[in-house]
Amino acid sequence: MITIKNLSRIFTSTEVQTRALSRVNLQINEGDFISIMGPSGCGKSTLLHIIGLLDDISEGSYALLGQEIFGLNEKERARIRKANIGFIFQNFNLIDELNVYDNIELPLIYNRIPPGERKVRIQKMAEKLSISHRLQHYPQQLSGGQQQRVAVARALINNPKIILADEPTGNLDSSNGNDVMELLTTLHAQGTTILMVTHSMHDAGFSQKIITMKDGEILTERKNQKTVDVFKS
Ligand code: ADP
Ligand code: MG
Repeated sequence: MITIKNLSRIFTSTEVQTRALSRVNLQINEGDFISIMGPSGCGKSTLLHIIGLLDDISEGSYALLGQEIFGLNEKERARIRKANIGFIFQNFNLIDELNVYDNIELPLIYNRIPPGERKVRIQKMAEKLSISHRLQHYPQQLSGGQQQRVAVARALINNPKIILADEPTGNLDSSNGNDVMELLTTLHAQGTTILMVTHSMHDAGFSQKIITMKDGEILTERKNQKTVDVFKS
């Protein structure tokens, strides 16, 4: 599904060059649930942004669903992104001026889904995430846990093939964090491919594979022996 070869990302400003990623090789298969761990500044978010087509590659190659991304223009990348990728961020990244309904609706509008179908899909998704009674609220009127559920709803509303989550539980208490992890686990069981950056060993325990990074490089890649089974506990 994703093949990355010798990928580097160098940020250049007038004074300094930062090598955020250095010769990264990574293969992600359909149905994988992978965690990325590593100290702050090691390149985790940069890698996620590149995989999500939000950022450019400096060197190397990146193929998503069989298509080479390097060299595509922004319009083509946006089309692939909207059709295939859902993002979940640490800070939820909801639009404060829009209510919950409108926040979830945005990706559907981008993908030109007709209004009637939009309504049905939003109501169904809201029910699934237990936020039906909050659709007219604004993000600031919600708890962190509720905001992240709205963000998850927005990420899922177009049935993306891959979910990219950057420290999705980083701003949540453990109970709300566990809710989000259970959601991701359910999605994974239903076939969604998930790539998650996390600082939490507990959260990484939900994934099948753990990748550790350091100084822009992938250090280790190992199978997770004791995958947390949320359905048994
Ligand atoms: P992590 O998510 O692992 O904490 P990041 O991917 O955010 O790390 O950052 C990796 C390195 O790249 C850091 O040194 C960071 O300062 C640098 N970096 C990230 N984004 C930019 C940018 N837009 N411009 C310049 N440097 C950046
Ligand atoms: Mg980061």
